[in-house]
Amino acid sequence: MGKSLKKVIVVGGGPAGMFAAWCLSSNCEVHLFEQSSSLGRKLLVAGKGGLNITNYSIQKIREVYIPEGFMNRALDDFDNNALLTWLHNIGIPTYIGSSGKVFPEKGIKTIEVVQKMTNALLERNVTIHLNHRLISFASDNMFSFEQIRRTDQNRVHTAPIEQIEQIEHSTTIEQSNDTDSPFTKTYTADYCILALGGASWPQTGSDGLWVNMFRENAIHTLPFLPSNCGINIEWPPYIRQFHSGKPLKNITISVWTKGEETAAPLQDTMKMQEALITDYGLEGAAIYGIVPNLRTSLAAGTKAYISIDFKPKNSMEQLLKKVSFGNSKNTSRTLKRSDSIVPDYKNLLSLNTEQMALIKAFTQRDILTNREQFCMAAKNLIIPVQSLRPIDEAISVVGGISINDINENFSLKSNPSIFVIGEMVNWDAPTGGFLLQGCFSMAALAANSIIKA
Ligand SMILES: Cc1cc2nc3c(=O)[nH]c(=O)nc-3n(C[C@H](O)[C@H](O)[C@H](O)COP(=O)(O)OP(=O)(O)OC[C@H]3O[C@@H](n4cnc5c(N)ncnc54)[C@H](O)[C@@H]3O)c2cc1C
Repeated sequence: MGKSLKKVIVVGGGPAGMFAAWCLSSNCEVHLFEQSSSLGRKLLVAGKGGLNITNYSIQKIREVYIPEGFMNRALDDFDNNALLTWLHNIGIPTYIGSSGKVFPEKGIKTIEVVQKMTNALLERNVTIHLNHRLISFASDNMFSFEQIRRTDQNRVHTAPIEQIEQIEHSTTIEQSNDTDSPFTKTYTADYCILALGGASWPQTGSDGLWVNMFRENAIHTLPFLPSNCGINIEWPPYIRQFHSGKPLKNITISVWTKGEETAAPLQDTMKMQEALITDYGLEGAAIYGIVPNLRTSLAAGTKAYISIDFKPKNSMEQLLKKVSFGNSKNTSRTLKRSDSIVPDYKNLLSLNTEQMALIKAFTQRDILTNREQFCMAAKNLIIPVQSLRPIDEAISVVGGISINDINENFSLKSNPSIFVIGEMVNWDAPTGGFLLQGCFSMAALAANSIIKA
């Protein structure tokens, strides 16, 4: 008689859980549980602005994760090339866009990506249990689920639902007792992978409510905080009125903390990127990169500031030369202010309306007649930051399971047959495809550890 297959429960139907289930399915009996009525809901949200599924740069992939080195072992098991090959094999061709960002080929909708991933699970006989919320787990590997009843009109189908339900009814997994209430089921398994997500966009199912289960099991969790999110700035009303929705292109931004008199850069983001002026402040790639440092400053109760360089390609000396009176270009570019004629700094430095509006908003009035101060403002405009945007609207979060409570393969130190992967663990990465790559890599390492055990 052959050895019986390991039974593995995977909870969480996001990319981490789905991929873990797929990896396991070659060698194990796999049951995937999801509390929503469909899989991959946050992926669908992520895909709205283009699903940036990984990044092509091997070097960046090794450098971006926080804490440093946290993702290395997972990337050794399953890196960006492995992910591209897998996507290709399940019928999702990809292309490389700017900054090495990888997307599904043009014309492929995110719903099709979720569908292909779901089909890949069904083809490998993964049993999918939708509408099942994990409500408790115990050290003897008993997992209790609440079955969520939904009316049909509340259901969102991304997968061939009849097929899923058919498999669900023929489930072979052991049910522990008959005394459960009709809406609660308890299952046992040899191993479990939890991929319950973070706490942003709770409407997708990533509600972060699972932390209570971990507290009950004495596993340390950290409060969720937003990452890859916008920042609140107290704009003068005219910025909101006339400039909201406009981009600030080719800028660099760094974080500053101000003591009594001095300002010190915490982090320079030397790469030129784009930010968007919004009603509440600023948003976009140039902002996301500085959120970790801003979060640290704000959490420490320090006043936080950003410094925008509108002219990162020019040194201060070069800017001063452009606006000096001796410069022949300047004779035709002057403005009359009160009694004096001054160079038209805005045009001489090729600043646009939005850049000029921000300079005016965050400097003294006389700056328009002071060439040194004006150039300094164009290179280093200091803007106070009120706070980060709320967690609900963040692209990702930090917090969740403390990495001190998990082994290198993401199993719990207190119970190595239970693994935690994806955004529910306290790690961070910038946008650019690194978040999803991290989820896939963690899933592969956890699944391979179970297969090899
Ligand atoms: C607007 C937006 C844009 C984004 N764009 C990108 C991008 O372009 N590139 C990128 O790399 N990343 C992007 N992300 C981030 C990416 O979507 C997430 O990092 C990723 O989805 C996390 O995967 P996960 O599997 O860990 O968790 P999730 O995708 O959050 O999945 C967790 C699942 O667990 C289920 N669950 C939770 N609790 C329970 C429970 N008790 N019982 C049963 N099921 C439960 C939830 O319903 C959910 O389906 C974006 C995110 C957002 C919000």
